[in-house]
Amino acid sequence: MFESLSEKFSSAFATLRGKGRISESDIDLIAEEIRLALLDGDVALTVVDKFVARVKERSLLTLPEIRKSTNQSQEIYSIVNSELVEILGGPARRIRFAKNPPTVIMLAGLQGSGKTTLAGKLALYLKEQGDTPLLVAADLQRPNAVTQLSLLAQSIGVPVHAPEPGNGVGDPVSVAKSGIEFAKSKLFNIVIVDTAGRLGIDEEMMKQASEIKRAVSPDEVLYVVDAMIGQDAIRTAEAFESGVGFDAVVLTKLDGDAKGGAALSIAEQTKKPILFASAGEKLTDFDYFYPDRMASRILGLGDIATLAEQAKKAIDSDTAKRLEDKFVSGEEFTLEDFLEQIQAMKKMGSMSKILGMLPGANSAAMRKQIDALDDDELIRTQAIVQSMTPTERRNPKILNGSRRSRIAKGSGRTVTEVNNLVDRFSAAQKMMKQMRGGNMPANMPKMPGGMGLPPAMTGGISRSSAPGNRVAPKKKSRSGNPAKRAIEEGH
Ligand code: GDP
Repeated sequence: MFESLSEKFSSAFATLRGKGRISESDIDLIAEEIRLALLDGDVALTVVDKFVARVKERSLLTLPEIRKSTNQSQEIYSIVNSELVEILGGPARRIRFAKNPPTVIMLAGLQGSGKTTLAGKLALYLKEQGDTPLLVAADLQRPNAVTQLSLLAQSIGVPVHAPEPGNGVGDPVSVAKSGIEFAKSKLFNIVIVDTAGRLGIDEEMMKQASEIKRAVSPDEVLYVVDAMIGQDAIRTAEAFESGVGFDAVVLTKLDGDAKGGAALSIAEQTKKPILFASAGEKLTDFDYFYPDRMASRILGLGDIATLAEQAKKAIDSDTAKRLEDKFVSGEEFTLEDFLEQIQAMKKMGSMSKILGMLPGANSAAMRKQIDALDDDELIRTQAIVQSMTPTERRNPKILNGSRRSRIAKGSGRTVTEVNNLVDRFSAAQKMMKQMRGGNMPANMPKMPGGMGLPPAMTGGISRSSAPGNRVAPKKKSRSGNPAKRAIEEGH
């Protein structure tokens, strides 16, 4: 997401950081670099011009103050950050719930923009918040839209109102209307109406959307935009706004390799807030859109707030407390705890997604490392730990050659992989002991790809942990080494 833009911002600021004292011409220079980066990122020209002008104006106006600072480039950085947040819509917005339920949310947008998928994501999100959503299948145009929504609804355990088969059959306005009636009678507190899109904005689509809007008086009309289609997204949004009107934007497919210009320009161009962002095909790849977090990502500072929220969701508070107590009391961290960690990480999504939220994740070097990650490692690691007995997980020291070979067979992995995992785990245990003593170990064992996180957090086996590339050196002992012996014995 916004990788190339973020990289350009980072390199522009790297030059600025080297300056020490900042002059007017330095400001001109960085403004020009930002301008080029945004234009290259497909951001609308008017938005770029406005943004750059504001950054320049504020920087020049406050230059005397900036010069007093011990970190002058940081001051410019803050200006760029706050202007970015502004362009992205300012403070995050939330759903406006109706005073008298049900709250009606109507989804509109081009065909393929991700409306139906979004209906499922939103329903799941709301259900998890304790709401009782009802999905209404009023896209009777796109082939299989009704079936798709019904299947989605079934998979998340949310009821769907789908009285018409769709595929061109049925009246969407009366489906939407009867959906609201049904929701009222069954006391659903939110109704999500999926409507039909077209390949482009046309009269017929506008007419139908307007009629549905009039019939159900939505509390929110959300215009769903595929972030990958670039500037076209803005043109269609503007046309939809003047023809039908909407309250907020939802950006989908932010996980694509799009340059992201549409996302950056749309709030400013349409003067409508971005309410939600969707960044993946999984139903959980969905969240409110936070302009400040997005700005932080674009500026290469990562998105620690989202990361922390996801971690909180993935690890229940009892487990987190237990692990913390263990750490503080000096109790040994076991492979059972490790297994729990792996399971929590799997819940948080792919490794590249998790690490992509760290500061600097969009730099070319780190991107390369992240792209090289293999998510299946986590699954393989989990298989190995699951093939151990609880006693072995609590006390890996008892893992002799025959136990290791049994675990390898049980998990479908090689003895070398089992050895690697045990080695890395011991190294992590040792490191945690050092950290508890207040010392950061000098040679922190590297995570897969060499990123310097504790191996216990990242899985034990990696492409880079092939034999000969082990993190923890093994003692040279032929007969006394159960791991080697297992290999020597040909298991
Ligand atoms: P609709 O015609 O607007 O209802 O669009 P759909 O919901 O059917 O989505 C069109 C395609 O985009 C489907 O293949 C979805 O799986 C995919 N899609 C939807 N949202 C996202 C997203 O955030 N990321 C990615 N990569 N794909 C998405």
